[in-house]
Amino acid sequence: MSPGEVFVQRNVGNQAMHTDMNCMSCLEYSIKSLKVKTIIVCGHYNCGAVRAALELPSRTPGLVNCWISDIREARSQASRELAGLSREEALRRLCELNVMRQVFHVCTSPVVQEAWAVGQEVHVWGVIYDVADGLVHRLAGPMNASSDIDSLRYEMTAVIGDDAKSKKRPREEGHPVQEHAVAPVDAA
Ligand SMILES: [Zn+2]
Repeated sequence: MSPGEVFVQRNVGNQAMHTDMNCMSCLEYSIKSLKVKTIIVCGHYNCGAVRAALELPSRTPGLVNCWISDIREARSQASRELAGLSREEALRRLCELNVMRQVFHVCTSPVVQEAWAVGQEVHVWGVIYDVADGLVHRLAGPMNASSDIDSLRYEMTAVIGDDAKSKKRPREEGHPVQEHAVAPVDAA
């Protein structure tokens, strides 16, 4: 891949919050000016931000407590599923759920919604990097239109529900990273 083919926006916990003007501005610039067609939300297993959201008490002092609040929300929504897992399994699962949650935020962002409304080609993917084996696994995508969000919402509900494991989307091993992407990428 040549220099300049990927436009990257990084932050702790690979989050794409609508209130994060840095991330939303990067999305807007990449879609409206750079005309990127592929957006990748890339998380990673053993994420420190996700571990904090999973293990630290909600009264943790400092701004980090604010920053990981959305991941705490993901933890709360998946509390029943996570309660049945070992500590490390729960961490891996919440890392995956956080990626899917952030994909949802990207897809529902004004700039992506506007692009889809006028027929601009934008594909959104959610992937997770496993530091242990160097492989990237697909979790969600490609999301190509507003209607696809309903299927993602269904999947998030399904994996969080009682029959989570039977409905969990199978991973695709070693999916190649797409070109011309802007990506909320984990930075810690
Ligand atoms: Zn991380």
